[in-house]
Amino acid sequence: MGRVVILGGSGFIGSHLCDRYLATGHEVVAVDNLCTGHKRNIAHLSDNKQFQFIEQDIVEPLKIDGPVDLVLNFASPASPKDFTILPIEILMVGSRGQHNALDLAREKDATILFASTSEVYGNPQVNPQPESYLGNVNPIGIRGVYDESKRFGESITMAYHRKYGLRTRIVRIFNTYGPRMQLGDGRVLPNFVSQAFRGEPITVYGDGMQTRSFQYVSDLVDGVEKLAASDCTDPVNIGNPDEITILQFAQEIIQLTNSKSEIVFKDLPPGDPLVRQPVISRAKERLGWEPKVPRLEGLKTAVDYFKMLLETSVEAQ
Ligand code: UDP
Repeated sequence: MGRVVILGGSGFIGSHLCDRYLATGHEVVAVDNLCTGHKRNIAHLSDNKQFQFIEQDIVEPLKIDGPVDLVLNFASPASPKDFTILPIEILMVGSRGQHNALDLAREKDATILFASTSEVYGNPQVNPQPESYLGNVNPIGIRGVYDESKRFGESITMAYHRKYGLRTRIVRIFNTYGPRMQLGDGRVLPNFVSQAFRGEPITVYGDGMQTRSFQYVSDLVDGVEKLAASDCTDPVNIGNPDEITILQFAQEIIQLTNSKSEIVFKDLPPGDPLVRQPVISRAKERLGWEPKVPRLEGLKTAVDYFKMLLETSVEAQ
């Protein structure tokens, strides 16, 4: 069935991809420097003979023994909190890291899929965002380290495709949630759920009228699998177009957790995009993909996961 190298394989999304490719009969090699990934995300795979873990930073050249059919590059810190804590690492992993990933794919004659992001659209002046929208990114803003890193990653990916005929795929991932997100990573869902369960105030940034569109992680994994197996070189948005305000999202979390927490308003972080919604017609037409998990259903599963983490204190790391 083939051998898949998953860079960032012990991260939130990477570990779900390990599960999916193993379940469909592939051999999986996960590479991760554990900077924001966690071994506990892949602990259940340690006895699986089809699975191998290599602890390595992909900013260093990649040496993988044996054949490789597919390289998935999901290695990067991705939470806005990381944009301040790990700015240089983020710039390096999207640029040098993706360069190394492309060289690995070329050496092995493998297909390569690069995990890009809705952040390439910056603070969009067009809503919803089709892939043809060129974006509104501030290169010197705090979020610029992530946005520009991913934009460079897309550019070098297309350069390898055009110059060497490499089979390349680019997925632009919109806000994704689900089990294995870290409670303390600063993103809106883990923040709201931990605040709600602890009875602390729910911190809505700005007036809460900014919007996001949240997709459940299994929908993303379906989209990535379909894109990797397709012949689509153009970037593809994978996200759930179900857009809501952050204030409404906070109210949903309070209801789902039966919390007595109040909502408090804090300053909007600089450069925080005011709207975000994917146009998914390309994914529908070229991959036959669309999201299946309704928000409330996915949120229930994620809330249960965070509850388990809080009860077992596994999150303290
Ligand atoms: N947000 C919030 N309170 C929090 C964390 C985030 O209101 O405690 C807001 C944030 O300002 C943004 C949205 O929720 O508008 C989504 O933030 P997240 O960090 O999850 O991801 P982003 O889409 O900004 O990359």
